[in-house]
Amino acid sequence: TEFVNVIGAGLAGSEAAWQIAEAGVPVRLYEMRPEKSTEAHHTSDFAELVCSNSLRGNSLANAVGVLKEEMRRLNSVIITSADETAVPAGGALAVDRDSFSATVTKKVKMHPNVTVISEEITEIPSGITVIATGPLTSSKLAEAIKTFNGSDGFYFYDAAAPIIDKSTIDMEKVYLKSRYDKGEAAYLNCPMTKEEFDAFREALITAEVAPLKTFEKEKYFEGCMPIEVMAARGEKTMLFGPMKPVGLEDPKTGKRPYAVIQLRQDNAAASLYNIVGFQTHLKWGEQKRVFQMIPGLENAEFVRYGVMHRNSFMNSPELLRPTYQSVKRDDLFFAGQMTGVEGYVESAASGLLAGRNAARLALGQDLLTMPQETVIGSMAYYITHAEGKHFQPMNANFGLLPELPERIRDKKLRYQTLAERALDHLAQTEI
Ligand code: FAD
Repeated sequence: TEFVNVIGAGLAGSEAAWQIAEAGVPVRLYEMRPEKSTEAHHTSDFAELVCSNSLRGNSLANAVGVLKEEMRRLNSVIITSADETAVPAGGALAVDRDSFSATVTKKVKMHPNVTVISEEITEIPSGITVIATGPLTSSKLAEAIKTFNGSDGFYFYDAAAPIIDKSTIDMEKVYLKSRYDKGEAAYLNCPMTKEEFDAFREALITAEVAPLKTFEKEKYFEGCMPIEVMAARGEKTMLFGPMKPVGLEDPKTGKRPYAVIQLRQDNAAASLYNIVGFQTHLKWGEQKRVFQMIPGLENAEFVRYGVMHRNSFMNSPELLRPTYQSVKRDDLFFAGQMTGVEGYVESAASGLLAGRNAARLALGQDLLTMPQETVIGSMAYYITHAEGKHFQPMNANFGLLPELPERIRDKKLRYQTLAERALDHLAQTEI
């Protein structure tokens, strides 16, 4: 059998290499650490967790928990190693980070089908290849990927606004309208009085921000200044910026509110909305506290918080297929955060699917597209079908799954039904 190259032994690359090896296909796994490191890694172990030691929720009541269960059933090395090295963390799956990475390293390295090569790759290799070099891909390879994909194929972002589950927005308080009624009414508008605005601005200015890493202390682009920095600049800055009320009169009263916050549809199914212009560096708990002050968002659920850090990712809606294959080269796969999935578990899940497909290609088998009803399949679908222009990395969440045939109002029951459906579809998939 032809061997497969895997570039990068992070969360996605380790999982991909494991899956390929388990399928009986030889793997050459290239990792540049420790000779060369990234701005966030500190060790030479595979699957190093660069920040939190939590892999987030572990129950079937949340999408990332369902994703973990799907991965367990698909023989994931990342999730089984996490289970083996778990530390108490309530409903979350948190790990002893050193034992976790050591366990993954050992299992992958010891696999008879895996050859580890300590080397920085600077060009895209020929032959069946999975590239999983992460959000901090070394610069030469980043250039090569950019050239391969075309000019806007691989870029950095350092700002993204929070995303909200639409079913948790209080529709009594918000109204659908586009500014000056131009085009189809596309935005949900949250109106504020002067008193509400003043209290909100005060909360923004005094909220706690996440500490900046040295490599993040870059000048903010004017176009994506964090909302809390804008709030601190002056009383009127937000009112002339993202909270501008002109042309957004409330249809119920005909009056122009003092300030308006707009929510923009974020996915084709219109189940997710982002807060327009609200990229932020606030701590996640603070984002929840402050943004729930916005009228209509009192009980909003955030499927992704705003983030600001270096993160290279591709414009996958135009460049990838749901098999994680490049649209330009059948034998080239991408996996991990660089494909626009967000998070440790999501990165590993994409590596799992890319790895299985690379192995199937080597074995002359048909490639696998996972059903959209599964969480692993919904992620692959999202990153390859989202709107290309505003594409931003995405966490696993129930809003990405196709709607149920009947609307279930009770959230707990709805999520339980979605979780059961996901695992049913997984069981029915021929793998
Ligand atoms: P990585 O885990 O980074 O793996 C990529 C691997 O490729 C690395 O081992 C790297 O050394 C190697 N590599 C890079 N270039 C080359 C090359 N040219 N040749 C050979 N090897 C190469 N997610 C969470 O869920 N929770 C968090 O708390 C969290 N915090 C984050 C903090 C920061 C600062 C960043 C940047 C991201 C964070 N993420 C977090 C997002 C994401 O989950 C992680 O970045 C995750 O590690 C992504 O997995 P990956 O496999 O895509 O990349």
